[in-house]
Amino acid sequence: MKYQVENIKSGCQVRGGVMGSHKKMILENLKEMVGDGWVWCLHCERVYKPEDVRYDHEADLFMCFYPECNGDAFLDAWPYEGNVREGHPDYPVIPEKGVFYPLY
Ligand SMILES: [Zn+2]
Repeated sequence: MKYQVENIKSGCQVRGGVMGSHKKMILENLKEMVGDGWVWCLHCERVYKPEDVRYDHEADLFMCFYPECNGDAFLDAWPYEGNVREGHPDYPVIPEKGVFYPLY
């Protein structure tokens, strides 16, 4: 399993191993939730892959993949397949990044 950790590594050096394990925890949590599927952001109603999470240095949190979104990768991350597509069978099985998939 290869995650895109390279671009986050610069932030790891300050916090050392803690950072790494936190990311691992978030990733494992998301992977457990969606498997190979998609994470849906409650804030911006767009999807991303678990490995796409973005580290926000100021907030010290893993955030939604989309830079302008302030949703985090924990409380605001919902499984697309279960929570969203369940109510919208017309939504694609494989959603597109950057496309809005409103819940209602
Ligand atoms: Zn978002």
